Amino acid sequence: MNVTDNREWLETIRARLEQRREELERQYQQGLRFLVAEGQSQADEGTVASHPADAASDVMMAEYQQTMLRTLEEELQEVRLALERIMEGRYGICVDCGRPIERERLEAVPWAARCIADQGRFEKEVERQRRSS
Ligand SMILES: [Zn+2]
Repeated sequence: MNVTDNREWLETIRARLEQRREELERQYQQGLRFLVAEGQSQADEGTVASHPADAASDVMMAEYQQTMLRTLEEELQEVRLALERIMEGRYGICVDCGRPIERERLEAVPWAARCIADQGRFEKEVERQRRSS
């Protein structure tokens, strides 16, 4: 029997995904608020901060927050897609080969879209494209 036919198991996974989505959305909102507040305080101080060291660390913090937000956005998207797959009855099926994803993998990474073998291939391909561009 396919693990995804097990309603109880699927409900547990769904609850974990929803919890994760809420967490990520909260972090995302916090990050956004930080960037807005930071932009505001820079506007108040004028374009040049009174202390050069403050300006440098402000810029670094803002860049760090922007990177964080991008990562959070990507993770959120993966979680949302996984919840969509549950709703549409496609959860736990590898998007590449169409075979069931390993149960242990789904329990470890509930938003996984690929089986272990295809995830490995996918990551290598992404890495290869990053290097060649
Ligand atoms: Zn696969």
